[in-house]
Amino acid sequence: MIVVMKANATEDQISHVKELIVEMGLTTHPIQGSELTVVAVIGDDRKKDRNVLENAAGVDRVVPILVPYKLSARETQPNRTLVRISDECVIGGKHIPVIAGPCSVESAEQILVSARAVRAAGAHALRGGAFKPRTNPYSFQGHGVDGLKMLAAARDETGLAIVTEVLAIEDVDVVSEYADCLQIGTRNAANYRLLEACGKQPKPVLLKRGMAMTISELLQAAEYILSMGNPNVILCERGIRTFEDHTRNTLSLSAITELHYRSHLPVVSDPSHGTGHARMVADMARASVGANCDALAIEMHPDPEHAWTDGAQSITPQALLELVDSCRRVAEAVDRSM
Ligand code: PEP
Ligand code: MN
Repeated sequence: MIVVMKANATEDQISHVKELIVEMGLTTHPIQGSELTVVAVIGDDRKKDRNVLENAAGVDRVVPILVPYKLSARETQPNRTLVRISDECVIGGKHIPVIAGPCSVESAEQILVSARAVRAAGAHALRGGAFKPRTNPYSFQGHGVDGLKMLAAARDETGLAIVTEVLAIEDVDVVSEYADCLQIGTRNAANYRLLEACGKQPKPVLLKRGMAMTISELLQAAEYILSMGNPNVILCERGIRTFEDHTRNTLSLSAITELHYRSHLPVVSDPSHGTGHARMVADMARASVGANCDALAIEMHPDPEHAWTDGAQSITPQALLELVDSCRRVAEAVDRSM
């Protein structure tokens, strides 16, 4: 960090700031300018309390230089992280897998029909919620463990890996037992104890961006999982809340680029939750591929009109097939494959 002193700061005040920095176990490097003095702090100051310096007499402001996440930062790992969910669904390389399926697991039959459609469309993993985070407590909350069993049966038949959400710490073990990848939803992206619990189990974690989270906060959330020993974290841009009400959320395509710049972790785009409208999904999927996303997460339902959850943004099996086909062509244009 850099401590910027006020223009009228006295020598005593500058000396006191230097003493405080040395007390923190760090080294100082004062730079005397024509207008004011700045004190550069040398050493890893991420775990130090900046407030101490901010409150010292003569200090104008303290500017952090090191990012507050270490394990998710790009500098830590020059190579991009590859997260393997299954042989056909490896995220972070040249190949861009598609994770598709209904918002919720509704019945054994529904998830099986969905899985077959996902396979037929040429997608690479099956999604579907067994534990659903619902805004209203009276809405369908998911089939829970029964839903996980239905997903497992669909995997047995189609060979597709399963991505499904874990809502609560007490469910982490059972979801980890059935799923190939655990999803942490937007509402839980800042549930730090849940993030830690997912960091202690062995399956990859797809971490969705909180709907009001900055990019830095998302990377700090990922840090909770990584710091518990699980290196297999996939970041997911799923749209944020803005003043715009034509879409359910605003899909931030530039977040894909920025996350790649800041981090070595792979980035998935979810244009379904990112828009809320089935008619927008294919365009935003193609735009995401053009922006170099590492995978797509798409809500598809065999009968969207009768979907129990998120029907408005769910595309049909035929639309998924067309989406994969057209995204494949965009992928080739940006030197990737699908
Ligand atoms: C979902 O994937 O169905 C879901 C609930 O997503 P989000 O947490 O992004 O709203
Ligand atoms: Mn959904």
